[in-house]
Amino acid sequence: MKIFRIKPLALALALAGVTGAANAESVGWIQSSELDTGISACADLNGFVNAKWVAANPIPSDRTRWGAFDQLSEKSLDAQHEIVEAAAKNADAAKAGSNEQKIGWMYHSGMDEAAVDKAGFDPIKPDLARIAALKSDKDVVAHLRASFADGRGGVFRFGSRADYNDAKTQIASAGQGGLGLPTPDYYSKPEYAEQRKAYEDHIVKTLTLTGVGADAARKQADAVMKLETRLAGASLSRVELRDPKNQYHFVSVAEADQVMPHFGWQPFFAAQHVTVEKGFSLSQPKFFAELDKMFADVPVADWQAYLRFHTVDGASPFLSKPFQEEHFAFHGQALNGQKEQSARWKRVLEAVDGGMGMALGELYVAQNFPPQAKARAKVLVDDVRNALRARIEKLDWMSAETKKKALAKWDTFLPKIGYPDKWRDWAGLAIKPDNYFANVRAARKFDYEYDVAKVGKPTDHTINFPAAILQAPFFDFKADDALNYGGIGAVIGHEATHGYDDQGSKFDQDGNNNNWWTDEDRAKFEARTQKLTDQFDAYEPLPGKHVNGKLTLGENTADLGGLNAAYDALQLALKKNPQEAGAKIDGYTEEQRFFIAFARVWSGSILPKAQEVRLNTDPHAPAQYRAIAAPSNMPVFARTFGCKAGDAMVREDDLRVTIW
Ligand SMILES: [Zn+2]
Repeated sequence: MKIFRIKPLALALALAGVTGAANAESVGWIQSSELDTGISACADLNGFVNAKWVAANPIPSDRTRWGAFDQLSEKSLDAQHEIVEAAAKNADAAKAGSNEQKIGWMYHSGMDEAAVDKAGFDPIKPDLARIAALKSDKDVVAHLRASFADGRGGVFRFGSRADYNDAKTQIASAGQGGLGLPTPDYYSKPEYAEQRKAYEDHIVKTLTLTGVGADAARKQADAVMKLETRLAGASLSRVELRDPKNQYHFVSVAEADQVMPHFGWQPFFAAQHVTVEKGFSLSQPKFFAELDKMFADVPVADWQAYLRFHTVDGASPFLSKPFQEEHFAFHGQALNGQKEQSARWKRVLEAVDGGMGMALGELYVAQNFPPQAKARAKVLVDDVRNALRARIEKLDWMSAETKKKALAKWDTFLPKIGYPDKWRDWAGLAIKPDNYFANVRAARKFDYEYDVAKVGKPTDHTINFPAAILQAPFFDFKADDALNYGGIGAVIGHEATHGYDDQGSKFDQDGNNNNWWTDEDRAKFEARTQKLTDQFDAYEPLPGKHVNGKLTLGENTADLGGLNAAYDALQLALKKNPQEAGAKIDGYTEEQRFFIAFARVWSGSILPKAQEVRLNTDPHAPAQYRAIAAPSNMPVFARTFGCKAGDAMVREDDLRVTIW
């Protein structure tokens, strides 16, 4: 028996031919038979809700993990697949320059595998010739300028962002980058020797594919490794980067030139068509100082090796088969343990999505997001917002003074549901019917120009909940409150709480990096977040490899605050629909089903290699801990399932965390 009921309104809609996001067979409609009653919810909520699901849903060979989230993304891939197939079929006849035509041609050109294979690496030969012709460090810098202007970037990251001191306005921002391995640690720690070796072999093989001789390729790979190791040594860790003061460092162009006398920021900005008035963020000055030294003292031949390899590696997914396969052998297999490459249509669709995602989203919403869904989601957002407001007002550890500021910030959380008010304009993006590589490049350049054109313009702080997430297991406008509040309700609460996590709490209601806390309140906040850090540090998904509590603190704070707000929002909703409160379906109360729905979102498993990369790079904790961590801190969870002190899902009083 399903444990989420369909509302009568939904039945009427279904009879009227309005199809929703989910039907009886889709994910999220948890059958009571899917619950593992051999595992007590008080011992392990994740096991109780997800053990049977995980056993019945092995990881597909073209994936590195598989869970409710991935099932959802697979489902929306299928829906998008239909859209792009139809667009490709109609593209030639579609209105010239329309989004349908662009999407159709881009997809079609990518699916013409014979043409892509026939071209070999011809599309990047002009780039490789330019790299071969570099003679001096000035040439290297000029090459980087041109590469950025073409949307391909280079040895650091560059784009627009809100000014941390004046968030109304967007500024240019340059940040550390340039590494081929997942984090700086991979270049130095003994435990990553295997990954380093695999990367070096990958560099050799990639270069060899473009006709570089075996010995030369080995030598060049060595140069690339040395160069990247030096960049890594000057880079901050992901945990260090969580601190806003390590994300922003405002300088004038003249000051930046003092840090980097061999680079020249003015010609760089001119080439990007970016006007910098007062200055920009040279976000990690230590990294850029080292990079500048490297322009001066790394031999041009080594820079050429680095640029050559990254040009080929970055282009490989869109080149002929040998390039795609080598790219996958390292990035997919060696690093993440993925067994098989995904089907070509999925990879091409990913490229279309990467290039014209919002245009694809516009077509998707038109077909998959009825106005009824938007209306129901709007009610949910309001309930969760109001619940969070009430929670802030009632916080027993925060002074009235700080609360006032926290509430002022709460006022600014006004998310958009399903799709933006105004869709992006794709005029100016030229897509050809028959040149996949040129299309991917054109889309990247268009996107880069769109991003840097924001410099000097007002910031758009809108938070969007995209239509793609507004379906099972998160949301179904036809389902009852337990599913929706435990699913998307917790997600909405999560996003709202980000405004008050380890990073968000350092920004005020205007989005400026400003301390709005009293010292005493800040100390209390940090004592609470420390407990949550400790809780996650103790989780050990792989033998000897723990979750990084500091790296994941922001997400874990958001999960905990989000679930608490969603639970309170459910109480608000039940007051409006008292006939639902207390009613059991197949033996489970509304509140029990709320927690079951929450845990189901986090069902899934992951390959050990992919897990290891994520432990180092992903600010989100592994799914199985997200299912249990927040509920185990909530007395209402214990009460809902009748858990007792000493049960694994009931954290002891002095370890239990409540923040928001
Ligand atoms: Zn988050």
